[in-house]
Amino acid sequence: MLKPGDVVFYARSPASEFCDAVEQVIPNNSYFHVALAVSERSLVEATPEGVLERTLKDSLDDNQPGIVEILEVKGIPESTILKAATWCRSKVGFPYNDLFSADLMNSDDLESYYCSQLITEAFRGVEMHWPTHTLNFLNCDGNLIEFWIEYFRKRGRPQVPQGDVGSHPGQLRRSPVLVLKMRILPTKMNLNTLKESKLLELSSHFVGGNHVEFVSNRQFPVMEPRSGRKLATWHYANAEQVDLVVKTAKNAQKTWAGSTWMERNEVLKKTAELLKTHCDDIAYWECLSNGKPISEAKADVLSCVDTFNFYSGIAHDLLGHHIPLDPTRYAYTRRLPIGVVAAIGAWNYPIQTCTWKTAPALACGNSIIYKPSPLSPVTALILGEILKTAGLPDGVFNVIQGDAETAQHLIHHDDVTKVSFTGSIPTGKTIMAACAERNIKPVTMELGGKSALIVFEDADVDSGVACAMMANFYSQGQVCSNASKVLVHKGVLKEFLEKLVKKTKELKIGDPLKDETQVGAHISEVHRTRVEGYINGAINEGATKICGGDRIQVPGLENGYYLSPCILTDITPNMTVYKEEIFGAVLLIIPFDTEEEAVGIANDTDMGLAAGLVTKDLAKSYRISEQLNAGNVYVNTFNDVSPLVPFGGIGESGFGRENGVAVLEHYTQLKSVFVNTGACPNPF
Ligand code: NAD
Repeated sequence: MLKPGDVVFYARSPASEFCDAVEQVIPNNSYFHVALAVSERSLVEATPEGVLERTLKDSLDDNQPGIVEILEVKGIPESTILKAATWCRSKVGFPYNDLFSADLMNSDDLESYYCSQLITEAFRGVEMHWPTHTLNFLNCDGNLIEFWIEYFRKRGRPQVPQGDVGSHPGQLRRSPVLVLKMRILPTKMNLNTLKESKLLELSSHFVGGNHVEFVSNRQFPVMEPRSGRKLATWHYANAEQVDLVVKTAKNAQKTWAGSTWMERNEVLKKTAELLKTHCDDIAYWECLSNGKPISEAKADVLSCVDTFNFYSGIAHDLLGHHIPLDPTRYAYTRRLPIGVVAAIGAWNYPIQTCTWKTAPALACGNSIIYKPSPLSPVTALILGEILKTAGLPDGVFNVIQGDAETAQHLIHHDDVTKVSFTGSIPTGKTIMAACAERNIKPVTMELGGKSALIVFEDADVDSGVACAMMANFYSQGQVCSNASKVLVHKGVLKEFLEKLVKKTKELKIGDPLKDETQVGAHISEVHRTRVEGYINGAINEGATKICGGDRIQVPGLENGYYLSPCILTDITPNMTVYKEEIFGAVLLIIPFDTEEEAVGIANDTDMGLAAGLVTKDLAKSYRISEQLNAGNVYVNTFNDVSPLVPFGGIGESGFGRENGVAVLEHYTQLKSVFVNTGACPNPF
């Protein structure tokens, strides 16, 4: 976070009598302390205990500010700034100037400094344009503040030095050569009042265990899909800020990698507990920022509980092998963390995607920088707060907000050693190329799909309908593994379609915050229009709309992005909807006669994320599952998920896996050690 020479201001003090009294002496000022960074991790500050060098974290813990601002000195030669930092360091151990005297002498007649004086002295002779300041101990009525009368009396000075030359953090802060770099809100979010909290006002990013606001010229709106309302304006991180976050994560990873399995287990287990305790409130924010029904959001949070629980007990799967080679030689393998993971997520399962990457990455001893989609950027920040509360060391989990540009800075950073991506195929290709460009980075690709569900003639039709709806209408159809192609044997087509259409029309579309809602809002106006485009395009190409595809006006939420689930028939292989991922609630009915025909249609794509079948015939289910080109196959179910079971695609749907023990491969690197117990034989 820090660069030597940065000036660190502390504002909005805790309720301490001393801080209150400091704040009062400049009207409308809430700065009560200032320090100077002397390295990337530490700062020097004059405190009543004397001049100290300590980490930013220790300083924050001690001073308990409500806001910290880090300012860079601009327009001054670098060597001058470094000289100031070095000078400051040379004063470590000097006492506190408890009299605030301009001659640097305290009540024991020793050379000494108070906080702002240390900074002005460090920059002595440099034109910093500090506003002139004289010590003031008067309140707004012009009377001496009682606290200061008593303060000086105790130090043998019956006269308060009113009007003497001095300095004050609030005055130094006004120097035009100090440029705000970032604002940190170290106060913890109150998880118990999460739902009512001013979470959105906190800050855009979570870095080094704190809520951080970077000063950046690129902003984005945090939208509420259920109402179309802007909830907040947040900031994208730029290259410099990304660099800072990566450095923070890199530093923190060293400590985390050295933690024992029990320490990691404890943090992950506690995280699971906290997620469970605060499930309803987290689901509220997920619902608000994503538009999915609250019942689904709660299920998502509970699935995160399972994921953290599962990886909390994964230590035995991170062991290496002992490989005897001959009586005097053996080898062993070690499974080591990769380092700093850059994780980039899609918007459809915000907290779940973040958790699927974070839990195993942490279990393996990595640090992680998560970049959510700007379309649903909120709940990753809550996960940050929960991990911190669970005892995760600061800087091991970080969240930065950003778009493609920010993500590219992250991917191209030399100190990022692994990229895990969830998103669309075109973006995946760009990211893979970027991972190869700079330094070879291993990458996980969880990409889009074009899946099929096959309903066989022997199927329980009601079960088939349930599978088809699950495979298309959950989360407004915005699910990567969704089977938009529903292949129905002609023998059951009529009954299947009747039941499906009836059930689809009965779906309750409405305010996602209501418990009874089954279909909420699409993520954005742009995305809703894109889904409509697929429906209209299909109709233009000859498809028949059976139901849905209509914009729905939810009373009181008229600007929300609602669209009723749609069923299309008369689909042909040349249609765009047949070939492309729709990522919306659009179900395509495709009749078939034979097994071969069904498998052919299901596999008629370069993608391979998922496939499903509905049948009572066990032998058939085994036979067909073998033939389907997909990373995940569902029999008499769809989109089932468990932290025990690997999830991922083949073909254009990507590679690498999430969940299960399989994911550990992707967050560790293997080292082989050969050991010769005797003398090394000389081959020459
Ligand atoms: P997207 O590819 O547009 O964006 C995904 C993420 O990548 C976002 O955080 C975005 O900011 C970032 N990004 C965008 N362009 C980038 C670039 N050029 N370089 C680096 N980062 C960039 O995808 P989306 O619209 O957010 O999500 C929908 C897609 O995600 C669908 O295709 C869906 O199938 C897929 N998805 C896949 C899975 C899976 O597990 N396989 C899960 C969920 C979603």
